[in-house]
Amino acid sequence: MSEREAIGLTKSLLRFDTVNPPGRERDCARHAGALLKEWGFRVEYHDYAQGRTSVIARAGGTREHKPLCLTGHLDVVPLGARPWTRDPFKGETDGDKLYGRGASDMKAGVAAILLACKALAKRLQGTPGIVVVLTAGEENGCIGSGHLARTELLGKAGALVVGEPTSNYPFVGHKGSLKFHARFRGVSAHGSMPQLGVNAIYKAARAVPKLEGFAFEAQAHPVMGGPTLNVGTFEGGSSVNAVPDAASIGVDIRTVPGMSHKQILERIAGLLDEAELDVFSDLPPVWTEPQDEWVQRVFDICKPYVGEAPQARTAPYMTDAANLLKVYAGAPTVVLGPGEPAMAHQTDEYCSMERIRQSVAIYEALIRDWCRA
Ligand SMILES: [Zn+2]
Repeated sequence: MSEREAIGLTKSLLRFDTVNPPGRERDCARHAGALLKEWGFRVEYHDYAQGRTSVIARAGGTREHKPLCLTGHLDVVPLGARPWTRDPFKGETDGDKLYGRGASDMKAGVAAILLACKALAKRLQGTPGIVVVLTAGEENGCIGSGHLARTELLGKAGALVVGEPTSNYPFVGHKGSLKFHARFRGVSAHGSMPQLGVNAIYKAARAVPKLEGFAFEAQAHPVMGGPTLNVGTFEGGSSVNAVPDAASIGVDIRTVPGMSHKQILERIAGLLDEAELDVFSDLPPVWTEPQDEWVQRVFDICKPYVGEAPQARTAPYMTDAANLLKVYAGAPTVVLGPGEPAMAHQTDEYCSMERIRQSVAIYEALIRDWCRA
């Protein structure tokens, strides 16, 4: 791989506006899929909604051994309110920095996956092979991967590499997430006669301190730490001179292995007896024992790039692995990619070009290790 090629491919992906919402991953997905096809991959597309395209591409494969899966998402988050000093869609460079929305999260990771695939495509016949999964709709709750997990398209995989931003440090998992709205109903009345109504905001307000004081009945995880709960939104009422008949609280819970999301919801439903709970995201934690044989091999491969033997660490954010592992059950999983975690979702997001080059070499080594290619 030439240096120009790695940077050029990342830039070409940055030029597609896949800001989510609305997403519009189709053109970017078709571009990546066309390249994979040209390099000899068997490519399939899946649209979970109009223009919301994911790509599944395979090379090699045998009956006896499952392939290695490399995955990344194609959508990016909105530009934010603060103005950018760089063009978010041109791939401007300055020194080692390559700027753009999605440079770190995670079009550099997708480009590195693609180039590692290109380098080894011709040598995968008769080996366990690889499956590349490029998803739409990750940034709004892993919707695309959730849809893929309900199809037959994912097939099988024996291990999973998620190219999200880690500065090329291999993370062995992340917390799970449980998000819901607690909805409260009241009876509306004129604001001058509140005794004739039932105020939904008062009900919601009574619920907030219960959530703030919620005590999880869970042991802290030795690497991930403890679970967390955050009240992120509070909505209610439409007019200052009316008794509000509806209010809702948006709650984001992050869980660690060993916790039951069902039990948590049952406890919260008991605590907030005036609420209806409307769950809109329910994704389990991802965790692979660092002693796992493949994870140890990943650590060995990453060691020269990290500068020391990697330790067991986990990512602060969610990934598509939570959905893909519903199909690839039991597959050891690492989150490992060239982006800078601190740059994700930032104004003037950038990625280190040196890390993109390193990442291509790391992914190539992982594929060679898995396929003995
Ligand atoms: Zn991401």
